[in-house]
Amino acid sequence: MMDRRSFLSLSAAASAAAQTQPSDVPKWPSPVIDIHLHWRQDLSMDVDANIAHMDGCGVTRAVLLTKVEAKDSAIAKASKYPRRFIWSVSADITKPDAEKVLTAAVKDGARAFGEIKFHVAADGPEMRRMYSLAADLKVPILIHFAEVEQFPGEGTFSTGFKQFAKVLKEFPKTNFVGHADAFWANVSADYNNETPYPAGPIKPGGVTDKLLSDYPNLYGDTSANSGNNALSRDPEFTKAFLVRHQDKLMFGCDCPCTDGRGGGTENSKRRLAGKCVARETLSILSKQASAKVFRKVAWENALKLYKISG
Ligand SMILES: [Zn+2]
Ligand SMILES: [Zn+2]
Repeated sequence: MMDRRSFLSLSAAASAAAQTQPSDVPKWPSPVIDIHLHWRQDLSMDVDANIAHMDGCGVTRAVLLTKVEAKDSAIAKASKYPRRFIWSVSADITKPDAEKVLTAAVKDGARAFGEIKFHVAADGPEMRRMYSLAADLKVPILIHFAEVEQFPGEGTFSTGFKQFAKVLKEFPKTNFVGHADAFWANVSADYNNETPYPAGPIKPGGVTDKLLSDYPNLYGDTSANSGNNALSRDPEFTKAFLVRHQDKLMFGCDCPCTDGRGGGTENSKRRLAGKCVARETLSILSKQASAKVFRKVAWENALKLYKISG
């Protein structure tokens, strides 16, 4: 029979467990996997900082974006939390050994390339060899597309998105995941590389919308200010866009906040300063999509593409 003291300590443990899920954590319509969470080692934090972010905004699992130099410590630290992380790898694709190091990382368990963000053309030789390698190794490749600098001197990344159909046609066995400013600004047909985050209603027939419809090997990552901006510009458009591409879109956050509540970003000059990008984008998705579509975008599509068992 249980004595009073063990009963009390059990109750204390139960109430401590209840407290680990604070009441301000949103309850989303399905479990959530974030396909775009940067490993917080860059901010001199531990993988615990990634867990703090996920727990704070109600995210179940995440794809940790990891630079190849950090992969061994990332694997070791992420293994502290079984079933919460898978990892994706990036290396300097302008170096001659890029194929070798990325292949080794996939053999070590990386499930994707990404994010791939370099000052090269999207159909240039550096990117082309990554597209072939991703197809050979059967991993998706997540690309940062930007044609306009967010600040002077930033440069542009994977340029030439408007002509990306050519690449999609030429590499039918590669699964591409589009992300960042140019990918999302081009949902609107009137975008001409004027600004990273265009505002106002979306003009139907944009390049991104068309490519997602026409090419089975292109997927979209909702992450960052760019994804949030595109999905908040025009609610009517968003509703139909989510239905149209319900099997191609995947939730990602790319959020820099520390706690899943916007912490640490209050003084930033960025759009959504002081807010958690994950929370903001998941609330748009939960408002604009049916429960079934939400589940695909926030959970099922990524599990399928990244070959993760439920
Ligand atoms: Zn990016
Ligand atoms: Zn956040």
